[in-house]
Amino acid sequence: MADNLKEENRKLEFHLSEDGEIYSIRMYGDPVLHQQALPIEEITEKDHQVARRMLATMYSNPIGIGLAATQVGILRRLVVIDIDRDDPDNAPIILINPEILEQEGESVIEEGCLSIPELKAEIKRPEKIIVSARTLDGEEIIIEDESLLARVLQHEIDHLNGILFIDHLSRKKQKRLKSKLRQIRQEYAEIPA
Ligand SMILES: [Zn+2]
Repeated sequence: MADNLKEENRKLEFHLSEDGEIYSIRMYGDPVLHQQALPIEEITEKDHQVARRMLATMYSNPIGIGLAATQVGILRRLVVIDIDRDDPDNAPIILINPEILEQEGESVIEEGCLSIPELKAEIKRPEKIIVSARTLDGEEIIIEDESLLARVLQHEIDHLNGILFIDHLSRKKQKRLKSKLRQIRQEYAEIPA
């Protein structure tokens, strides 16, 4: 565990921007989380900076394995993912304009979100997906997956479309979470940063 922590810090330090700053994550109750992010037409140096700072932000949270630009208040279609964050040799994935081309099957997995702390829920989504995207270097790539990565990709692409994982729950289940959500909203969103 101590070793893992050290490696995580190495990843965090590696991705820290020159000023060493990380973003503050927008929390449930912040209207930006319901907005649609815009496609990135031209990848600029600024996008590289944003991606690096997003990675550092993700690694600074001990349970972060994915982060969408929307969650740091930037409405551009950019996500970062590292499902093996404890593995120092595993490089994170940075995707520009990710888009689901095909989906298949069904699976139920418990999800959480850095923007909705302390809340987890089982969410049903397609099991297998095919995603097209561009890398930071502008290279077009296709990702086909049916593991945890497929799940995280769907969660992050949802963020770019202003959708939260709890939006997938039935009305009944959402109702049951209402007081918990109100509590989170009060605790995190209404206190000025
Ligand atoms: Zn999330």
